[in-house]
Amino acid sequence: MIPVVKTIDEIREYVNKWHKEGLSVGLVPTMGYLHEGHKSLIDRAVSENDRVVVSDFVNPTQFGPNEDLEAYPRDIERDAALCESAGAAVVFNPEPEEMYDNALTTVSVDKITKVLCGKTRPVHFAGVCTVVSKLFNIVKPDRAYFGQKDAQQLIVVKKMVKDLNFDIEIVGCPIVREADGLAKSSRNTYLNAEERKAALCLSRGLSAGRKLIENGERSAEAVKNVVRGEIEKEQLAKIDYVEAVNAETLDNAETAEAPLLVAVAVYIGKTRLIDNFIVE
Ligand code: AMP
Repeated sequence: MIPVVKTIDEIREYVNKWHKEGLSVGLVPTMGYLHEGHKSLIDRAVSENDRVVVSDFVNPTQFGPNEDLEAYPRDIERDAALCESAGAAVVFNPEPEEMYDNALTTVSVDKITKVLCGKTRPVHFAGVCTVVSKLFNIVKPDRAYFGQKDAQQLIVVKKMVKDLNFDIEIVGCPIVREADGLAKSSRNTYLNAEERKAALCLSRGLSAGRKLIENGERSAEAVKNVVRGEIEKEQLAKIDYVEAVNAETLDNAETAEAPLLVAVAVYIGKTRLIDNFIVE
């Protein structure tokens, strides 16, 4: 059975040994309750590295006070089985006390964390950047894998790595979806049957926006209006944002030209879901 390691010292023993042997190490940071989206990251990491570490840690510092930290689904045994079958070498599953032992230091990226999800989740990205920095220093991976599903997170992590000179390659991986289009997410487990149907408005709206661009639309405003209109048809949906931004700077886009990120966050009942597409 794949080892599930709880302490920083133990995980360091594994990776220090591998580095001494000249083996490359890939890291897949997750909050657990793993699904096919996470598995696609692990598969990619296994194909590109000699050894793969999956971190499985519901990071309290990236949740706001009224968010779903307590309710967030957890199942470390099932996660470990998935990691093993995907070919990972070890799972790092620390407790919050192990990661934050009276810590006073945070890592924050300015400007690009203040838009999109940063508006409704003001502490989120500092929590992400701090935990990802810590994981980078603990695991010292050659490469780390992040999903396009969390497009802003991927952009923020890339910027942090550049700004702080982490010698780590950041690999972005495409969004994995359910057969009907819903982006896979651990939070989909919160949805009841009616909400699950309603949640399709995100991917439906984005598809409509993408088609409009493919048919030659150049106004970002027109694209946003179509996405928004499609989502608003759904009674259970409450839009947090529908944005079209430059996919590198996250500045508002006037024209629907590459590199463009069209991103949405929508409440379906109490569950906040995100989805996006990129025009490259
Ligand atoms: P999470 O456990 O939700 O924090 O996600 C861990 C990593 O898996 C992040 O880099 C996510 O972007 C990625 N991920 C989550 N869902 C998907 C998905 N449906 N497709 C691709 N990557 C995903």
